[in-house]
Amino acid sequence: MAIPIESVPLLDTAAGVIHVRRPADGSPLEDVKIHDATQVTEIAARLRQAQVEWEGIGVRGRTEWLSRMRQWLLDNEDRLIEISREEGGRVRNEPLLETILMVEVIDYYTRVASKLMSPKRVRGASPLVLGKRFTVNRSPYPLVGVIGAWNFPLLLTFGDAIAALFAGSAVLLKPSEVTPLAVRELVRGWRDEIGAPPVLDILLGGGETGAALVDAADFIQFTGSVATGKRVAQRAAETVTPISLELGGKDPCLVLDGANLNRAVNCAVYGGFANNGQVCMGFERVYVEAGVYDEFVERVVAKVKSLRSGIDDHSDIGALTSAPQIDIVDAQVRDAVAKGAKVLTGGHRMNRPGTWYAPTVLVDVDHSMTIMREETFGPVLPIVRVADVDEAVCLANDSEFGLSATIFADTTKRAEQIAARLEVGAVNINDFLANMTCAELPQGGWKNSGIGSRASASGLLKFTRTKVISSSWLPAMDSEPNWFPYTPTRWRIFRGAARLVHGRGLGRLGIS
Ligand code: NDP
Repeated sequence: MAIPIESVPLLDTAAGVIHVRRPADGSPLEDVKIHDATQVTEIAARLRQAQVEWEGIGVRGRTEWLSRMRQWLLDNEDRLIEISREEGGRVRNEPLLETILMVEVIDYYTRVASKLMSPKRVRGASPLVLGKRFTVNRSPYPLVGVIGAWNFPLLLTFGDAIAALFAGSAVLLKPSEVTPLAVRELVRGWRDEIGAPPVLDILLGGGETGAALVDAADFIQFTGSVATGKRVAQRAAETVTPISLELGGKDPCLVLDGANLNRAVNCAVYGGFANNGQVCMGFERVYVEAGVYDEFVERVVAKVKSLRSGIDDHSDIGALTSAPQIDIVDAQVRDAVAKGAKVLTGGHRMNRPGTWYAPTVLVDVDHSMTIMREETFGPVLPIVRVADVDEAVCLANDSEFGLSATIFADTTKRAEQIAARLEVGAVNINDFLANMTCAELPQGGWKNSGIGSRASASGLLKFTRTKVISSSWLPAMDSEPNWFPYTPTRWRIFRGAARLVHGRGLGRLGIS
């Protein structure tokens, strides 16, 4: 018989295990042993040792291993998807997106990593550096810790590790306790099946294990909630460990008069309910201009009613992956209804074992409700009627979050003008997640949605430190005019030369 999913604590620290369950029916899946802080330190030390050789084989050597991993991902895609479907309660199309994007990221860095990591000659413009030669070298942080969320467990752990591995770091992954199994399988593939150097490992456990990783690593790549992100930042500050934070979102979708309504409706439903609404960039607020509001709402509701809940191959929407999430979603819907919102479809848990919430559309919502202010991360689409573009922009920006936004407008030019006014890290015009599918683009949020970004050149360079080497191509003199001893003559020469360079007009000659 299925155990009610809320009744079993996931993380059983007394027994030293995580009880991993199937969200689709609440049944136990596997008990996984937790790594304690001592083990974290030991694994970190082993990785640091292996990293030296990993860095030594250069980008070309590392690219060979990552390209074998790429093939392994393709060969084992079905198995990874199946594990993810079970532990995440997800429809198989969602984890497929993860493997596709990981392969894209490997391909991108295969093309550019060598150039990014190669030493760069820099010419100084100042006469003060005449005769000097400068080179900027890149050294990887030896050990990168990647802490990931449960909604895209592979992409948010190994997906972020790819750039670090290309850079020459060793990487220690800490997936969420909710979804550790697919990531564990991937690390097994790296180690046991392709036999790659031992520079990638996994930690199993909850927040304590994650905190121990923050202490052990030289750089932390974190994806998760704002609250945990702040805790990670505070802890990392103790050891002056650099961090990159990809945090929560409350992404707005603007639908304006004259937009292609067919596409807007289909996209709004996909953007609101893909991966059961558990997407950091999922649509959590829709602002619709008055002229198209009624038709838009009617068509969205019809489409949402047609979505099929389940995890078989004919389903659209899976279970909620993390059991506590269902209480958050339900509490937000109740708060909205209590304050005057109207439920047009859904609005309740589904009467079946596991964590199922009916796909929900709300109207008559406003920003006094938690559903419009806090992250929902579930299958709920609140829609607001706005008088005009200015109101839509004003409400879209009225948020602590700033991950991304979508605009549907009559012309691209108009949408681009509106995009410039939105306080977010990305704007997709007539689209959802388009920016995420392009590894060449920096992906990061504004405001409380994060610090730093993933993908693009900066997504690799952040895992490196710069080392500047300065030398001279002129024959070395025994001394320089500005070195000791300081004398009045040297002062006059040096100051006069500086005036000559930096002064303007007669000021160059010391005449004011
Ligand atoms: P959490 O913040 O609860 O957890 C994220 C990770 O941090 C988990 O692995 C968690 O482990 C770990 N953790 C918990 N406490 C600590 C700690 N003190 N020190 C170090 N690590 C810790 O987020 P969720 O897993 O609930 O994920 C959902 C959130 O992730 C949403 O807010 C979503 O918006 C965000 N997200 C952001 C994305 C982006 O790119 N901006 C992408 C996807 C999701 P454990 O789970 O075992 O407790």
